[in-house]
Amino acid sequence: MEPQRSPLLEVKGNIELKRALAKAPSRLPLPGSRLKRGPDQMEEDLEPEKKRTRGLGTKVATSRPRATALTTVPQTQGQTAVPKVPRKTGPRCSAAIATVLKNQKPGPAVPAQKPGTTAAPPVVGRKKPSKRPAWDLKGQLCDLNAELKCCRERTQMLDQENQQLRNQLREAQQQATALGTERRTLEEELARMRAQAEQGQQELGNLSTRVLELEERLGTQEGLVQELQKEQLELQEERRGLAAQLEEQERRLQASEAALSGSQAELASLRQEAAAQADLLAKREERLHGLEMERRRLHNQLQELKGNVRVFCRVRPVLPGESTPPPGFLLFPSGPSGPSDPPTRLSLSRSDERRGTLSGAPAAPTRHDFSFDRVFPPGSGQDEVFEEISMLVQSALDGYPVCIFAYGQTGSGKTFTMEGGPGGDPQVEGLIPRALRHLFSVAQELSGQGWTYSFVASYVEIYNETVRDLLATGTRKGHGGECEIRRAGPGSEELTVTNARYVPVSCEREVEALLHLARQNRAVARTAQNERSSRSHSVFQLQISGEHAGRGLQCAAPLSLVDLAGSERLDPGLALGPGERERLRETQAINSSLSTLGLVIMALSNKESHVPYRNSKLTYLLQNSLGGSAKMLMFVNISPLEENVSESLNSLRFASKVNQCVIGTAQANRK
Ligand code: ADP
Ligand code: MG
Repeated sequence: MEPQRSPLLEVKGNIELKRALAKAPSRLPLPGSRLKRGPDQMEEDLEPEKKRTRGLGTKVATSRPRATALTTVPQTQGQTAVPKVPRKTGPRCSAAIATVLKNQKPGPAVPAQKPGTTAAPPVVGRKKPSKRPAWDLKGQLCDLNAELKCCRERTQMLDQENQQLRNQLREAQQQATALGTERRTLEEELARMRAQAEQGQQELGNLSTRVLELEERLGTQEGLVQELQKEQLELQEERRGLAAQLEEQERRLQASEAALSGSQAELASLRQEAAAQADLLAKREERLHGLEMERRRLHNQLQELKGNVRVFCRVRPVLPGESTPPPGFLLFPSGPSGPSDPPTRLSLSRSDERRGTLSGAPAAPTRHDFSFDRVFPPGSGQDEVFEEISMLVQSALDGYPVCIFAYGQTGSGKTFTMEGGPGGDPQVEGLIPRALRHLFSVAQELSGQGWTYSFVASYVEIYNETVRDLLATGTRKGHGGECEIRRAGPGSEELTVTNARYVPVSCEREVEALLHLARQNRAVARTAQNERSSRSHSVFQLQISGEHAGRGLQCAAPLSLVDLAGSERLDPGLALGPGERERLRETQAINSSLSTLGLVIMALSNKESHVPYRNSKLTYLLQNSLGGSAKMLMFVNISPLEENVSESLNSLRFASKVNQCVIGTAQANRK
């Protein structure tokens, strides 16, 4: 079986075939078109030629002698018969035949007659007619006829042969056409093959690039694999370490489990113990609550025993630059138990220059003795003063309204007592910051017993019967806008001041900020109206709300700290200019509100049916802090100077009246 040839090999075969064809014209005297024919075809084409040549050869073999014979024929005769041969075969044909004969192997001397070939009368070996005598015209004619006949036969034969050659030529041309077509097909195929080859080449190039890429990737992957193997080794090492650790941990765990089971047993017993403790704790809490309620009750009882209306007298020290009063001007006699007792009495001596003796000598000074719940001589510190009132602050936390006033003439130390001295020195801190700090710390302690407290602060001033907010900020700062005192709601006991800020506070810093803001507001106002602060009442109110969620208990009470306006009167002998008239109106308003305060306290003390709260803005605003369940404390601030003796006496008399009051048994505001 012949192996399958590749298209490339086929192309190569075709190319060889073409080369053979190109060589062919040197062998074959065929027309140009025959050059394109294949070698086999050429062989076939050659065959009739051979035949012809052979035929011719025969003829040549026969004609040669005949030609020789013809040479003997006269030129004229020869010219009639011979010219046909070169016409039929032609010099080209003869040359071709000669070439073919030359290229062919020498054949047999006498080629065999091919079957089918028209048997020409054998000329070879025919006996050459002897030369006829000139006279033998008949014989010559006979010869010529014979010659003519021979020539005709030959012509006929040559025609046939010519015809055959034409046929062969046609065939050859057809074959050439077919071969041309085949060649074109082959050329197309060759072009396709070349394109395929090019494509193959390109693909090969791509594949090579891809192979290179893959090799590169392979290299990278191999590197990675090596790294991973290294890592794997490390991990295996680590795993071994961890396994060892795990073993150790498991061992420990077992030990721990053993310990745990022991601990669990212990825990169970501890739980039992804890349950018992919780039980005990609950009982103790219950008892503690009972005790707390008892404490509140007793505390209140104590406060009541001390009096629901208490008056403390405070004498400020002589300030630098002030004239020292004569000795004995102010005396602080000791209590019944001697100097260890806190002073409660004050004695003021007044020498009345108007009263003269008959002899003209000055009258002996008059002594005025006053007794209060407590008297603070000039050397008493702020802490000492606060200690006395801290019990009242505790009452406010327990749900009792508390109201503390500072009463006295301008410059007697009211603001110092309430807010404190200048410079922010903690030693001279006043009652307001101290009271609030105390409240916050006690509320914190009570939170341990389940009490939650909240505090909301407000700070207003009442000047000339108008209320202004001292906590106003922004554009309202200093001017405060006018405020109105209104009931919180229809039928509500609670009072609020419209346009005033109510600020929740929970720490000292917030309170300090509020006091600072109030001072700023007063300072701005002072520029507008001369020393307004001393001509107005400042009311700091703290609404205290407490709740015991566990027991559903609630308590709420206001703590009011009031720095009253200067209690001094106008000198009736003064000439009344426009400024003085204004001052007179201010003073009248102040005096009216202060006397209303006295009247309200008296009415409460005498349990009168009508209490004139509405007669002044101050008493109207404070009515909830002054009622039956309220506790009231009044500081009467006294100047130590002799020149202020008249005002001091007025203040002490007013305070003494208040001190005689007892407001009914206080009831905590419990809900
Ligand atoms: P008021 O408010 O009654 O008009 P102030 O509180 O402004 O009087 O006191 C007047 C001056 O006396 C202030 O300079 C104040 O610092 C000073 N002062 C008042 N009380 C005391 C005191 N107990 N110790 C020291 N200085 C005081
Ligand atoms: Mg003041």
